[in-house]
Amino acid sequence: MNEPVVAADPAVIAGLDNYVNLPAAQQPTWPNENAVLDARARLAKLPPLVFAGEVDILRARLASAAEGKAFLLQGGDCAETFVDATADRIRNRVKTLLQMAVVLTYGASLPVIKMGRMAGQFAKPRSSNDETREGVTLPAYRGDAVNGYDFTLESRTADPERLLNAYHTSASTLNLIRAFTQGGFADLRSVHEWNRGFTTNPANVRYESLAQEIDRAIKFMAACGADFDALKTTEFYVSHEALLFDYERPMTRIDSRTGTPYSTSGHFVWIGERTRQLDGAHVDFMSRIRNPIGVKLGPSTSVDDVLALIDKLDPNREPGRLTFISRMGAPKIREALPKLVEAVRDSGANPLWITDPMHGNGITTKNGYKSRRFDDVMDEVAGFFEVHRAAGTVPGGIHVELTGDDVAECLGGSEHIDESTLEERYESLCDPRLNHSQSLELAFLVAEALAKR
Ligand code: PEP
Ligand code: MN
Repeated sequence: MNEPVVAADPAVIAGLDNYVNLPAAQQPTWPNENAVLDARARLAKLPPLVFAGEVDILRARLASAAEGKAFLLQGGDCAETFVDATADRIRNRVKTLLQMAVVLTYGASLPVIKMGRMAGQFAKPRSSNDETREGVTLPAYRGDAVNGYDFTLESRTADPERLLNAYHTSASTLNLIRAFTQGGFADLRSVHEWNRGFTTNPANVRYESLAQEIDRAIKFMAACGADFDALKTTEFYVSHEALLFDYERPMTRIDSRTGTPYSTSGHFVWIGERTRQLDGAHVDFMSRIRNPIGVKLGPSTSVDDVLALIDKLDPNREPGRLTFISRMGAPKIREALPKLVEAVRDSGANPLWITDPMHGNGITTKNGYKSRRFDDVMDEVAGFFEVHRAAGTVPGGIHVELTGDDVAECLGGSEHIDESTLEERYESLCDPRLNHSQSLELAFLVAEALAKR
């Protein structure tokens, strides 16, 4: 008797749905299961946001960063919001990242891989399921992909329509990013233009003089007959924390060229500090996609944890596949990071190591703001470079929360932002971000450290 022939489903072969059998931290409670299934089905039919070919190029770029031949600059909002996905705000963030990249490229003579925490950063892990204000308890805000920030029951109730809204907002954000970076705006001959419109401060002034040097060099090369095609456009990648299975699973598609699964929700996706459990759903799911992936590592990370993460997420030790994003906090990095870096080095694995100098440095100010001290951020970056120098390993990049807007959320920097300034210009719905001038200042510091690397 002939058995009926059943076509093998590549998603089944890849085990993409295995995660449903495992504990999944930080998932929303949706009020209506059918509405979620409907949203997932609609998402699954929408076009991919990024293409597998781009993802493969990024993996190769990250491999060269892991070897010390490039440097990763990853930055953007803690949480993107639907209302702030405007042309001005997206442009300011892209400009800030381009400016930082110029400072780094020029200062360190290294190619810089530019990556936004953008076009998908709409879901947030929370330390508590609820929030209480003046005796009223409601579900915590989990990012615009899940619920609203307003403190009412209606707004805080999870709504699966928001998953589709997250997709469409990501699509229009990415469209503008692609237009900016491919359509002439990112032409290196516009280095001055990117600084226009930002308030004057010491970091801007320093940037201006660097831009003048670049200008002179470009004019010199032009006079020599150089061809500037390579300066006209730039690669720009997008990334976010892959948190919500109801978004990430329908956005994961089988690549027709290779028959393997890729997340098409962003080029690079990472696992957060709260969802990196070895036997949890996130690690399992991310082990099955082909994208380059990141894992945040906080101060409680053990040597066994990192080695096991490498075995699960990068069993073939594929160059560029795995990035460790350490976020130890300035007082802890010099003590907590060396043992991890040394053990990984000794195991023969070669992941990319980058520093997130933001998430280990949170404080609450006396007037009640969630903030970070710019000096702590700078100190963690310095510690990161010191640890890698001592271990003979490569400090390959930086991951920051920033905005191109003139906000006051982190304390210090050359504008001396103090607690009272926070009351005037604090906009973040989630974590405090470096503003434009603090971002540039940080880039100058990193460029100096890189030049000495
Ligand atoms: C974040 O990147 O916004 C975040 C929540 O980070 P972590 O997972 O490192 O706490
Ligand atoms: Mn954050």
